[in-house]
Amino acid sequence: MRTFGCQMNVADSELMAQVLGEHYDLTSRAEDADLYLINTCAIRRKSEEKVRSLLGSLKPLKRARPELILGVGGCVAQQEGERLLAFAPHLNLVFGTKGIYRLPELVDRAGRGERVVDVALERDLPNPPQRWWSPGTVQTMVTIMQGCDNFCSFCVVPYVRGRETSRAPGAIVDEVAAFVAAGGLEVTLLGQNVNSYGRGLPEPMTFPRLLRRLNALPGLNRLRFATSHPRDLSPELIHTFGELSALCEHLHLPVQSGANRVLARMNRSYTREHYREKVASLKQACPGIALSTDLIVGFPGETEADFIQTLDLMGEAGFDQAFSFKYSPRPQTRAATFPDQVPEDVKAERLARLQAVQDELTQKAHARLVGQEQEVLVEGRSKRSPQEWCGRLRTNQIVNFTGPRELVGHLARVAITEAHPHSLKGRWVEGSPPRDRGEERLRTSPREVACSER
Ligand code: SAM
Ligand code: SF4
Repeated sequence: MRTFGCQMNVADSELMAQVLGEHYDLTSRAEDADLYLINTCAIRRKSEEKVRSLLGSLKPLKRARPELILGVGGCVAQQEGERLLAFAPHLNLVFGTKGIYRLPELVDRAGRGERVVDVALERDLPNPPQRWWSPGTVQTMVTIMQGCDNFCSFCVVPYVRGRETSRAPGAIVDEVAAFVAAGGLEVTLLGQNVNSYGRGLPEPMTFPRLLRRLNALPGLNRLRFATSHPRDLSPELIHTFGELSALCEHLHLPVQSGANRVLARMNRSYTREHYREKVASLKQACPGIALSTDLIVGFPGETEADFIQTLDLMGEAGFDQAFSFKYSPRPQTRAATFPDQVPEDVKAERLARLQAVQDELTQKAHARLVGQEQEVLVEGRSKRSPQEWCGRLRTNQIVNFTGPRELVGHLARVAITEAHPHSLKGRWVEGSPPRDRGEERLRTSPREVACSER
């Protein structure tokens, strides 16, 4: 299984593995696999191109092993449907974002020689299968809602993931409770706009109420969520930061642009002033909260003056991290039809300037942490050096540090010694006891993973 795209796609791939695992054996060796699935992302044209080029590169493998079932799922599959079969004659299966639960049946049909397409976008959310986690797994993602009703004018999500639907709170609480009982420490709740969680449920429910219920689970050390739409960030939600002990002091709050004219044409339903007020309230409710954001440059009609407003807002908000993208016209979206598209060279130049501003802000945020002792959830071996371990602070920065291997899968205290552009460096504070169930966890073999930057 190859996964492209956001955390939501990563979580979907885990779900696919679970759904298929009930019927088939899973293998970690690609050369042993009889089924090769690609989970795709359609958010920008570049992500779609990567999928097409991977499909092309799989032709020789399929020629050598004609019995291999090759399938494409996720957002590009949803968007392209039948057209993908025409593009790739060696492809056996195309399944959309709601086809995951039907995978065993679809794979079975493909195995019997049918070229299968299933891109139905029904509204109902079937209950996911009982989750399991391999021993030593300490972090997981739990999808709490699907789809989006916002129709931002640049975004393909409502077309490829359908209308917004929330999962029942009881099922979410049970899933998180089972994870914590299995030794889990950190849960990230996922949805395109988690702040509107609960709309349309038969029982009255809001996102802050869900957070409170999860925070009450003993043993849950870290709770995170993504993504938040600034319009729906309520005062009640703002006050959960700093109040709920498990809720990490980090919020990803995509602003997209700092210019009101652009925000209106993006159909974001907030202004830069609203956004600034929310940032101020967050910092008041939870001093030390780290903020990250998403930014688009070169949206149709964006002028140099609009762009400067975005740079100004970045400085004012003091983002710790930003994910920035050149605007990419997407099928079916309104902005793709706007006549005033910005030339590619202007987008590239603005992106470089914006990233230089963010690099400075990130470096400053990292420098402020040097000299502090921080709690790190140790994820595995560092990508930078095999002698180092890596993990994340509650405020989401990556730390590479030296210390014993037994720390993997545990919370540890780390003294921050150096600030780098994308990570921090530190030293384990010897003797710092893991705050979680130490003895019990040390007996399980820790899962070793490599930290990755989003
Ligand atoms: N639901 C989230 C929100 O409203 O903030 C966004 C989810 S989207 C998967 C992740 C990010 O991709 C967006 O925040 C936006 O910055 C970027 N994005 C979406 N459509 C884009 C496009 N057409 N061109 C460039 N970037 C895009
Ligand atoms: Fe896309 Fe806007 Fe929905 Fe986010 S809120 S997924 S950007 S339509």
